Amino acid sequence: MNLTSPSQVKDWCIANGFHPNKVLGQNFLVDRNSLDAIVAAAGDVAGQRVLEIGPGLGVLTEALLAAGAEVLAVEKDTRLAGRLSEALGNPSGLLVVAADALRVDWDELLQPGFCACVSNLPYSVGTRILLDLAFRAGAPERFVLLVQSEVAERFAAPEGSPHRGQAGVWLQLDYDISAICQVPPTCFWPRPEVDSTVVRLDRHPCGLAAEERKRYFELTKLSFMHRRKQLGALLRKAAGALACSDAELSERLKKCGLDPKIRPEELSVSQWESLATVYAAATT
Ligand code: SAM
Repeated sequence: MNLTSPSQVKDWCIANGFHPNKVLGQNFLVDRNSLDAIVAAAGDVAGQRVLEIGPGLGVLTEALLAAGAEVLAVEKDTRLAGRLSEALGNPSGLLVVAADALRVDWDELLQPGFCACVSNLPYSVGTRILLDLAFRAGAPERFVLLVQSEVAERFAAPEGSPHRGQAGVWLQLDYDISAICQVPPTCFWPRPEVDSTVVRLDRHPCGLAAEERKRYFELTKLSFMHRRKQLGALLRKAAGALACSDAELSERLKKCGLDPKIRPEELSVSQWESLATVYAAATT
């Protein structure tokens, strides 16, 4: 079957009594140009291991294998997982794991090392899957993901943007994020109601030590729970490792050159890093 042909994909589904599942985000990519853009954004994958989450009918899996990658594909739908290898001609470079990417033992699966994760992620759980994977010791250096445009915007949102939130501030600590191309609903079958974007994340070195990283995640998690509040007011109520007296808090903000009235979405990644460093120094 030509997996970029909407009519062939639709006919296969009808012939096999397969109804795409909305809850699992089963909107299959049926557009050759977008497929080529995703594979090109992954870089040279020949002879390298690539992770794919949600291979579905295998359009991306097939293209990655054709580019010479060895693919580990994790698919929750047991019917799709069960047919994938045979449907693609039992390629030696493909291993399919029938599992929920939200529950799988990633530390074990990531053990062999992957140069990239290349996926058309299910919309409802895409961000959760990425955040669960991106900060693990064995995480791939690069992610090329097809996600809802709104989600891509959040990942890349700079300070001051209304789209700035916890996911972006966390991902930007470790990754350079770039939008590769837009993918309209017509490129999928069935068509989703939203626009999609191919986004690439390339890992860069992080200058924070382990304890500072811990504070970075704690500070930003707390702050983005109440993004409209002022930073000083937010941190005054902090508990656990972030708790400190009002005088200590003023001193810490002053050291970072931060106005207590600034709001969480206005801080740059390097300002959050400074704050995390000051907090870590005060608590160790
Ligand atoms: N890669 C295929 C493509 O581009 O046409 C399918 C992409 S479709 C947007 C998302 C895929 O993720 C579906 O095959 C769906 O069954 C699978 N999926 C949904 N939730 C999942 C989960 N929690 N873990 C693993 N796979 C999941």
